[in-house]
Amino acid sequence: MSRLAPSRPLTALIHREALVHNLRRARAAAPNARILAVVKANAYGHGLLTVARALAEADGFGVLGLEEAVRLREAGFAHPIVLLEGPFAAADVTEAARLGLTLVVHSEEQVAMLEAASPARPLDVFLKVNTGMNRLGFAPEAFATVRARLRALPAVGRMTAMTHFATADEPAGLGRQFEVFRALIGPTMPFSAANSAALLRHPETHGDWVRPGIMLYGASPFEDVPAAVLGLQPAMTLVSRIIAVQRLRRGDAVGYGATFVAEGDMRVGIVACGYADGYPRHAGTGTPVLVAGQRSRTLGRVSMDMLCVDLSHLPEAGVGTPVTLWGQGLPVEEVARAAGTISYELLTGRAERVPLREA
Ligand SMILES: *Cc1c(COP(=O)(O)O)cnc(C)c1O
Repeated sequence: MSRLAPSRPLTALIHREALVHNLRRARAAAPNARILAVVKANAYGHGLLTVARALAEADGFGVLGLEEAVRLREAGFAHPIVLLEGPFAAADVTEAARLGLTLVVHSEEQVAMLEAASPARPLDVFLKVNTGMNRLGFAPEAFATVRARLRALPAVGRMTAMTHFATADEPAGLGRQFEVFRALIGPTMPFSAANSAALLRHPETHGDWVRPGIMLYGASPFEDVPAAVLGLQPAMTLVSRIIAVQRLRRGDAVGYGATFVAEGDMRVGIVACGYADGYPRHAGTGTPVLVAGQRSRTLGRVSMDMLCVDLSHLPEAGVGTPVTLWGQGLPVEEVARAAGTISYELLTGRAERVPLREA
């Protein structure tokens, strides 16, 4: 039996050359650091293996779960792979050693897991310090002791100090986090601190491993700087088509809640894309969209499987006309802003039912 091609026109096109370009952009901005390409969350919704293949020039990959690491190893990737939140249970340590993974160690519980483990080979460790994010990591006061305890363990190989910034993307900058970190770890210990924002704006934080995520996918980590200005190219274009056209008269409404009411005669295109696809329901009337490459706007509420677009100035558009929801020609940040969210949420929110296809 032949496998049916997807019949619904909604597709997430993945641009391999954009991924390669963005990785080189990261390399150019951080020429002395190794690049840990962050591919958690199914590579920010772009497909783990597709992205890993495109980013094979990276020096390593950052993931959250063992399952993702297994998929990478089974696909033949021999790169260093860092489990960004470390082991979740003692059994993870043995499995991680078997797969040759690097573990973040951020908690006392994880130190205990390593103390109890007798893995086949030592595991490299990223020892995480909490310098002000107050999410994961050891307090600065505990760092020296934990480092010494880990160093004494046969289960532990090389150690890299790690921290994560809360405000690298904000105009005010890093605050004191990096100073605290550097003072603590001393001049010789290898370290990893920079996410995309710090990689692009704070070169002093590059250290041994930078950890870019969002920039590799072509979106800007900064609210005030568009991706194009940073030299980044969108790696995903979410495309669909118009599946029906409605002619509204003055006073006619469209969609649930009848929140958009026509002020005169107008044509409306119904597009196969809704919130069950990961398009944000909070995107109100006026959210930008491209219809046959021309800018237009959404009208009314986004439904589960459909949304409505203004065709008033687009007399040629009709059933079958292509629509871009975000990506090439329409930065995802613009859609995110209209929905009161960030590009990360839209990209990672692509629903399973939206097929990925390499462009
Ligand atoms: C997700 C993540 C990153 C990547 O952050 P971006 O802002 O997407 O560059 C880096 N480091 C850690 C620990 C992360 O969890």
